[in-house]
Amino acid sequence: MRKLSFLVLCLLVMNLLFAQRTILHCGQLIDVKNLQVLKEMSVIIEANKIMDVQKGYTAAAAGDKLVDLKNKTVMPGLIDMHVHMESETNPGNYLNGFTWNGPDYAFQSVVFAERTLMAGFTAVRDLGGSGANISLRNAINKEWVKGPRIYTAGKSIATTGGHADPTNNYRKDLMGDPGPREGVVDGVDDCAKAVRQRYKEGSDLIKITATGGVLSMAKDGSGAQFTEEEVRAIVSTAKDYGFKVAAHAHGAEGMKRAVLGGVNSIEHGTYMSEEVMELMKQKGTYLVPTIIAGKSSADSARKPGYYPDIVRAKALVVGNYIQATFAKAYKAGVKIAFGTDAGVYAHGKNWMEFAYMTEAGMPILEAIRAATVNAADLLGDDRIGSIEKDKLADIIAIDGDPVKDVKAMGKVRFVMKNGTVYKNE
Ligand SMILES: [Zn+2]
Repeated sequence: MRKLSFLVLCLLVMNLLFAQRTILHCGQLIDVKNLQVLKEMSVIIEANKIMDVQKGYTAAAAGDKLVDLKNKTVMPGLIDMHVHMESETNPGNYLNGFTWNGPDYAFQSVVFAERTLMAGFTAVRDLGGSGANISLRNAINKEWVKGPRIYTAGKSIATTGGHADPTNNYRKDLMGDPGPREGVVDGVDDCAKAVRQRYKEGSDLIKITATGGVLSMAKDGSGAQFTEEEVRAIVSTAKDYGFKVAAHAHGAEGMKRAVLGGVNSIEHGTYMSEEVMELMKQKGTYLVPTIIAGKSSADSARKPGYYPDIVRAKALVVGNYIQATFAKAYKAGVKIAFGTDAGVYAHGKNWMEFAYMTEAGMPILEAIRAATVNAADLLGDDRIGSIEKDKLADIIAIDGDPVKDVKAMGKVRFVMKNGTVYKNE
């Protein structure tokens, strides 16, 4: 008995000695909750957690690992609430559906995931793919590949012929009738089935396409595509499984039904009316703007042959509205969470959304809060989103001062996720 307790004591002491701490000396540290920049701070990390945040440069004890970020600006790992890890804009994409197998999407997504992490995004919400996005999340969690924390919707849920119906505009013998298993619903029973199917497949949340969209092979880019009753059926079934619901929406009517139906976020929000803004404020619905996606798809549409004609016509119009709508919604006091629709433009350039948000009148510190505190709130994950004691150690550092120049957000030099350093230049 004595021998045993001695052994336990030895193990405890060894554990204390070898639990290595990492100390970050931060020249500037962004306090995202209070919207201020603190000077000369230290962050103490042990394993995957933040143990303390201290004023001044805390001296390292024997065995501590010290990281010098004295000439950098340190902030919580950024969170992009709207990405598509499986794909990236390319004129050939419409053909890939006929020539690519699942593993092709999976391997491609590995490249985009690592690029996203290295750009300072330590968490993302994947709002729709084929299901490879679920395997990607699992592979990252197992540390087989490098990437951000992924909260994935798996396959988006659409109505027949709606945005994200996977066989839109196909030849009749290929078109088929996908049904709720493939994320295509008509009526409340299908809605429940589709949500349960996502649960069965391992999704973390639900994404619906409440209105038409730009890049689908369909004529209408903004009309309502779900009834309010269908949205309610999605939301109430989602609640059974602890899922939040994100709704893609360009037109005001579909947006209104989605908000009244109880979704947690409106994605894009292109033609948002004042009535919808008011409803969102009442219900606490977030707007995830994706300004960069609108601008970038409008740019691509100007290149001859980049999109099929049916898509091109929509991209040229919709793309230009999002930024002005974001400005109005922000001014009106709608809650904003950062999101870019990465994949619709090139992965890794997510930071440019900060430039568009500030251009539209949101101060950079508020934009950073939208990409940290607000994003974590919308995810419903209180372990991330700020640099505070007991939070998970998701921390990045950039060159320069984003308050003086927003382009600094593109100069990510240090990335730590879950206590592991992935980049330190
Ligand atoms: Zn999207």
